[in-house]
Amino acid sequence: MMASIHPLKPPTALDPGFLLHAVDFACIKHRDQRRKNKFAAPYINHPVGVAQILWAEGGVRDIDVLQAAILHDTVEDTDTTHEELVKEFGQKVADIVKDVTDDKSMPKDKRKRHQVEHAKHISQAAKVVKLADKLYNLRDLRDCPPAGWDTKRIQGYFVWCQAVVKSVSGANSLLEAALKDLFETGSFSVEGLAINDPLVHGKAMLRVVTLTRDCVPKDTDLTEFLEAYYSAMSIAGETEDNNNNNNN
Ligand code: ZN
Repeated sequence: MMASIHPLKPPTALDPGFLLHAVDFACIKHRDQRRKNKFAAPYINHPVGVAQILWAEGGVRDIDVLQAAILHDTVEDTDTTHEELVKEFGQKVADIVKDVTDDKSMPKDKRKRHQVEHAKHISQAAKVVKLADKLYNLRDLRDCPPAGWDTKRIQGYFVWCQAVVKSVSGANSLLEAALKDLFETGSFSVEGLAINDPLVHGKAMLRVVTLTRDCVPKDTDLTEFLEAYYSAMSIAGETEDNNNNNNN
């Protein structure tokens, strides 16, 4: 005999209803937002993808962590409050989201520096969400960088993420291995200009070519590279963080 499903049956630890609640909530909150990648994908693709990484690649089965992953950008990027998350999803989930939420009132360069330090002191569950968040964003950046991001900017983001990931090391070996592989062997394509050879009618003509670059530059002082990235952020100011690019 099939067990009847009572609508008010108390949920079990891995009840899909918990996940659906978080997905529904995040869909509504992010409904008008788009990612900043070249496809301007719907924003919700990101938090759902982060939860999927946790489940499929990180082996995470803790429902609170999966819910927090789906909700992780709601406070930072929408009108959602911490109290609202406590009420809807409980203290533990709300606290994980709080730990991975950036203070957007801080100037961007300071916020980036702060994240590297702050990540060392957040809960274990929040560290795991952060790893999956970074893995998603880095793959997205590698495969379809936002318009206008040049090689230096893309590599700067990779080097900065490497510093953040170092701050949360030990939180999830599977995700850390995937990130390590990306940092060590990942590459991306950018368009550049090359001079036509042979010359056309004796003149040098430029043509667009596709170049391959390492995600993390090799034979480079990465500490210096990271400092240059922070400086560029301080000059870029807030404008570049518009439109929910969320490469935080
Ligand atoms: Zn995110």
